[in-house]
Amino acid sequence: MSDLETFRAETRVWLEANCPPEMREPVRDETDACWGGRNPTYKSPAQKLWMDRMAEKGWTVPDWPKPYGGGGLSPAESKILREEMAKLGCRSPLSSFGIWMLGPALLKFGTEAQKIHYLNQIAKGEIRWCQGYSEPGSGSDLVSLQTFGEDKGDHWIVNGQKIWTSYADKADWIFCLVRTDKHDKYKGISFLLFDMATPGVTTKPIKLISGNSPFCETFFDNVPVPKDQIVGELNRGWDVAKYLLGHEREMISGAGNAPVGSLGALHKELMAQDPLLRAEMAKLDVDTLAFRAMGEKFIDEMKAGKGHPAQPNMMKYFGTELNKRRAELVMAAGGSDALEWESDGSGGGAKPRQWLRTKANSIEGGTSEVMLNVIAKRILDLPGA
Ligand SMILES: Cc1cc2nc3c(=O)[nH]c(=O)nc-3n(C[C@H](O)[C@H](O)[C@H](O)COP(=O)(O)OP(=O)(O)OC[C@H]3O[C@@H](n4cnc5c(N)ncnc54)[C@H](O)[C@@H]3O)c2cc1C
Repeated sequence: MSDLETFRAETRVWLEANCPPEMREPVRDETDACWGGRNPTYKSPAQKLWMDRMAEKGWTVPDWPKPYGGGGLSPAESKILREEMAKLGCRSPLSSFGIWMLGPALLKFGTEAQKIHYLNQIAKGEIRWCQGYSEPGSGSDLVSLQTFGEDKGDHWIVNGQKIWTSYADKADWIFCLVRTDKHDKYKGISFLLFDMATPGVTTKPIKLISGNSPFCETFFDNVPVPKDQIVGELNRGWDVAKYLLGHEREMISGAGNAPVGSLGALHKELMAQDPLLRAEMAKLDVDTLAFRAMGEKFIDEMKAGKGHPAQPNMMKYFGTELNKRRAELVMAAGGSDALEWESDGSGGGAKPRQWLRTKANSIEGGTSEVMLNVIAKRILDLPGA
């Protein structure tokens, strides 16, 4: 057997022995996932066991280097692990903005001390992060942000407001874009990290159309931030922010990667009676397979250093529009029963709440219109774009 075949066989045996049966069920929604943090909450002993076992092996972040808490796997080994986990239906052990967003940015722009300190905590699920980018008036036009860090020698004093900060009320730390020079729009922003328990930080939850409150307004009132908590160079935080956004868009695009055939299997009778619905479901499955193939191709290109930097915009656009279509079909197939909002039988209105939640997919992390602008300009090179 080749080294990779041996790795595949050993990985399968390890997963079969170590992934508890409960962790082979799909994650129902965001609240059903493990988010870690300083004061973690686990839905079940199996969730904690799975998280601890995977962290111990470095497989919460399989391709990060071992000194930073990762598994040190090669791209080919990471792919095998993903495939074997998918075959057994293993859940991801840890949902984390640290893994999906901040980690890659720290690997590229962080100092060695920052990498050792923060990445290990992220890999073990010991720290939960939120993202302080958007402000009232600065969403798509993010570079106009106003939150200001005043230089006080060995620290900054940060004042301002962020908005739509996902899980700000549950996060331990924030990665935050702060203006440190008012004279240069792009080269006047710094990328700072600070503890959400610092005096002067307050959060106020915002309710979504789905009835949940997954995000907040976040206020900074004279918040001291030590100078060694900057990532990258002073006033060059825009470079870090853009790089991180690419990873955020890849993360959000994952919403499009739902199991193929599952909708049809759930609604077999309806499928037999309704040729239009059958055609829509078949088209969704075909598009999902195309999306998956595009994702695998992009990952291979990226690992080989040949990826186009705007590819995550394509993934984000396609994946989130696909997920919205899927939710529309779930509602169409469910008929009036799918509108049930509160009963136990409807899982507390799981279907309509999920359907409404998907409406935000094409806004969060950059809107579909903005993604299309980027694709037109940077990939298609369209005249006038
Ligand atoms: C569920 C959810 C979670 C989020 N989590 C976070 C978070 O954790 N941290 C964070 O910082 N932010 C977060 N956001 C904010 C998100 O990044 C912004 O909502 C997004 O970037 C859009 O900005 P905006 O809401 O200010 O809309 P605007 O920028 O005001 O856009 C309004 C409309 O104008 C359109 N538009 C704007 N500019 C253009 C253009 N140039 N061309 C064509 N159309 C345009 C947009 O497509 C949109 O339809 C979250 C948002 C959502 C919905």
